[in-house]
Amino acid sequence: MIDVHCHLNFKSFTDDYDEVIKRALEKGVKRIINVGTSLESSEWAVKLADQYNELYAIVGIHPHHSDKVQHDWIGKLEKIATHPKVIAIGEIGMDFYSYKSNGIVDPLVQEEVFVKQIKLASKLRLPLQIHNRQAGEKVIELLKTHTSLLRDRPGMFHCFAATTEVLQSALLMGFSIGFDGNSTYPGIAPGETVELATLAKLTPLDRIVTETDSPYLTPIPHRGSRNEPSYVIIVAQHLANLKNVSLDTFEAQTEKNVYTLFDKLR
Ligand SMILES: [Zn+2]
Ligand SMILES: [Zn+2]
Repeated sequence: MIDVHCHLNFKSFTDDYDEVIKRALEKGVKRIINVGTSLESSEWAVKLADQYNELYAIVGIHPHHSDKVQHDWIGKLEKIATHPKVIAIGEIGMDFYSYKSNGIVDPLVQEEVFVKQIKLASKLRLPLQIHNRQAGEKVIELLKTHTSLLRDRPGMFHCFAATTEVLQSALLMGFSIGFDGNSTYPGIAPGETVELATLAKLTPLDRIVTETDSPYLTPIPHRGSRNEPSYVIIVAQHLANLKNVSLDTFEAQTEKNVYTLFDKLR
């Protein structure tokens, strides 16, 4: 099993990341990919990847941090992204969830930072790891305007939630789709229109990848406590049930998907 998106580079793991990593490896998690949301957390993701064979990094500026970037942030990000264990640019994208409720962050600022990072990924020949929250149509529109910059296997949408139309567009462009512990929650999340189970069933098995987004989105039965990469196995079991395949089949296929998607992963 592989956790393609978590944040052991965040404060909640400062004191015990070593134990958390060892616990995941003991349970059978083979690779853990930590994702940056700012220059600082991206650097920390790379530092972790330097310490453990099984860890890799994805670096980028999250849409919620797109209004905090300083002069020459893109040059600094490029420098971080040339590290051999950086396998993609992310998490980058658009997020209208907090903009609707409290004005974070101006969509034009989000768009500018997102597009600059699509260009950087193209320059460095790296795939994208996309964050979308309630901005699916806009994300698809921006990706379509920049198709000349996208690879054959352009990357993945992480923590997928959207309409079935957005899912179909993402699949048609060649993207893979990541699901997390929130796929074990019953019902439809606030602001969404389709159940995650429906979206997982509509995603072909050879395009699904597993993630936790630790420390967030803890799967049932651990909901309410801090999430960690060892729980990616719970996410996988849930998805395997939805797809009507054994856990072994699901694990073998999704691991293959991850290596196809991230060609720098070893
Ligand atoms: Zn995200
Ligand atoms: Zn995340």
